[in-house]
Amino acid sequence: RLARLRARLAKSNNVFSQGLLALLAQDDIDEDVWDEIEETLLISDLGADPALELVDRLKERVTVEGTRDPESVRAMLREELVAMVDPAMDRRLSATRKDDKPAVIMVVGVNGVGKTTTVGKLARVLVAEDREVVLGAADTFRAAAAEQLTTWGERVGVQTVRSEQEGADPASVAFSAVETGIAQEADVVLVDTAGRLHSKANLMEELGKVKRVAEKQAPVGEVLLVIDATTGQNGLAQAKVFTEAVNVTGIVLTKMDGTAKGGIVVAIQRQLGVPVKLIGLGEGADDLAPFEAEAFVDALIA
Ligand code: GDP
Repeated sequence: RLARLRARLAKSNNVFSQGLLALLAQDDIDEDVWDEIEETLLISDLGADPALELVDRLKERVTVEGTRDPESVRAMLREELVAMVDPAMDRRLSATRKDDKPAVIMVVGVNGVGKTTTVGKLARVLVAEDREVVLGAADTFRAAAAEQLTTWGERVGVQTVRSEQEGADPASVAFSAVETGIAQEADVVLVDTAGRLHSKANLMEELGKVKRVAEKQAPVGEVLLVIDATTGQNGLAQAKVFTEAVNVTGIVLTKMDGTAKGGIVVAIQRQLGVPVKLIGLGEGADDLAPFEAEAFVDALIA
């Protein structure tokens, strides 16, 4: 899995492994080199504060530990990055905690970030673990969304609960999906939601309602916010609105295969205070991986 992650993150290697590690490997890391290191980190999309903190910590360690040999510096960089990405955050999905049955997972985010695809991929992962899954197509705003989700359902062999009418009440679709999940003794109900409505306020209100109505049947143990990694800080600003409307419990960072911006993980967790739980590494059914801080950092600086 690490090898695959490495290959997929190949593009992100530029900044860290080529730029940064080459800089750190120099014999004399003088102020000019530190400035270059700082610039390199700033363009890596870690976010300004973390980038500066990282440089400060590395500078301090190089001084205190009195070593500049490239291997040691690389090890320091790895440690500091892992600490920043924070492996202590709980990244397990509620669905793997087995306490609620069915575990209800709502998937939210702006249009086009990869919500429906993520629901499909996640269903596939769960089915492979022998769990019974029901999908709920609560994006009734986008005409093709229910169809797209149904196709994913057929592909991974799970039922999709949807409304035949376009523009139906999404909360009632979510309600029916959870109801079906309970009736079938499913382990997990995955609810796909709309990413766009007439207005942002409308959408946020609707998501709140979908959650409340679904909870008349069973607690929504997880709200996953999907963010497209290629949109960088912009995507993050948009995503923030969702965390204000619903209690987001985890992030899915999609399209990591198409970006050099691996540092966005740190920025997201700091700014939203929510752990990245899953990453999307492609459009295929198997292109979803749990986020593991150490493996991620290793792929980044490989
Ligand atoms: P939604 O509007 O948020 O439901 O987004 P979709 O699930 O329809 O996805 C939008 C597009 O992004 C589709 O073409 C997906 O195949 C693509 N996509 C989703 N996840 C990933 C990913 O991890 N990597 C890549 N390269 N493409 C992805």
